[in-house]
Amino acid sequence: MQHFPIYLSTTDRTVLLVGAGQAAVAKLRLLLKTQARLLVFADHPVAEIADWAREGRIELRGGLPTETDLDGALLLYAASEDETLDARVAQLGRAAGGLVNIVDNLADSAFITPAIVDRDPVTVAIGTEGAAPVLARAIKTDLEARLPARLGLLARVGKAFRPLAEALPFGRARREFWADYYFNTGPRAPEAELETALQDLLYDHLAKRDAPGHVDLVGAGPGDPELLTLKARRALDKADVVIHDRLVAPEILELARREALVIDVGKTGFGPSTPQDHIHDQMIRHAAKGAHVVRLKAGDPGVFGRLDEELEALQAAGIAFAVIPGITAASAAVAGIGQSLTRRGRNGTARLITGHDVKGYAEQDWRALARAGEVAAIYMGKRAARFLQGRLLMHGADPATPVTLVEYASRPDQRTIATTLADLPETAAALDGPAVILLGLAPRAKAKENTQTPREMAL
Ligand code: SAH
Repeated sequence: MQHFPIYLSTTDRTVLLVGAGQAAVAKLRLLLKTQARLLVFADHPVAEIADWAREGRIELRGGLPTETDLDGALLLYAASEDETLDARVAQLGRAAGGLVNIVDNLADSAFITPAIVDRDPVTVAIGTEGAAPVLARAIKTDLEARLPARLGLLARVGKAFRPLAEALPFGRARREFWADYYFNTGPRAPEAELETALQDLLYDHLAKRDAPGHVDLVGAGPGDPELLTLKARRALDKADVVIHDRLVAPEILELARREALVIDVGKTGFGPSTPQDHIHDQMIRHAAKGAHVVRLKAGDPGVFGRLDEELEALQAAGIAFAVIPGITAASAAVAGIGQSLTRRGRNGTARLITGHDVKGYAEQDWRALARAGEVAAIYMGKRAARFLQGRLLMHGADPATPVTLVEYASRPDQRTIATTLADLPETAAALDGPAVILLGLAPRAKAKENTQTPREMAL
């Protein structure tokens, strides 16, 4: 960078120009936009220059600037278009210690005037070090077209509002307010109402700042987006941040507000997982900034969803929350086989049990579960299948007890396999998606059409 672009203050300063023709006019047009006192030396000025003098916008003199004129001048333009005269003027200027520009003579000039896009107070200066004036003009034309004509007005009104906007916390809140003003509210508001619009916008943003963050712990259901609750839908519509588990179907994530930040804190049963603390941190961090966070969990958040840990973390951080229930996998699974979880005269109790817990394979009330007619929906049970079978048989369960495995319940790739307790481990080993093991239930005859037996599965 041979020439360093800076913005010079012209307040109460004098700029001298020597020249009476078109080169002088072109420079004066720019200089007239500044606050500088303009002293022009021209013996036979063109009409424009004479007019400006008459209007009092410039001071017009004959001859050459004297030492007194040059003393303290901010800039001196030699714009006579006469090489010898310009050289002489420049020499005078330099001798007086001023900054001199000879129009169209880069080599002998101490400074150059850039191409300017003027949306005062927003001004863009374009310089190419004299390398490509055509390029500078092209960039200027491009910017002229791109920057709204009202940008200057927006900036002037905006500037007056700066002290008021300091009521917003420094950083993101303030940045968002100004972005909203310059790119949204400002360009749209009628000119006469610009100040009112800006005032209203500031109040909106101040109100937003005071609105505390909030976390909705939302059940995403078993996978079919139509099984979302209306409340879940609405929460997704409003979300700033969505923090979801791996099991949440992509079709459901699609429903989140387009601008929402979507964070996958996926956990696989035994694979790599996001530490629970990290999930807490994410929820708290975003909510503390005022975001509406949706913590999206498969099925119902209150069923094997570590909901309490997350609620306790939110409570400890003083963050408001609400739980929006969802359809749990067991409900979708029994619906898929045309059965119900409870049935008059058969079972007045249905258990939701997990195949494993923090300690490993989970112990249950096996004696009760082994009784004929008992129904249990076993979550996360695939790997524990042999253990489950062993415990149940040990407590007297009939090996012929019906067992149905429902994989990807409610999704287009749902699979139902009807088996018995005797064959449970082998059947479970053949599945790789999330599945619910329904103990004590066989698919209803009609639902059987879509049901496989373990033998068919192997084919
Ligand atoms: N909160 C969830 C359960 C999370 S535990 C709920 O209420 O459904 C994860 C287990 O849920 C999986 O191992 C599997 O057993 C079961 N599961 C979740 N979604 C399922 C689906 N679409 N089909 C079958 N089982 C599912």
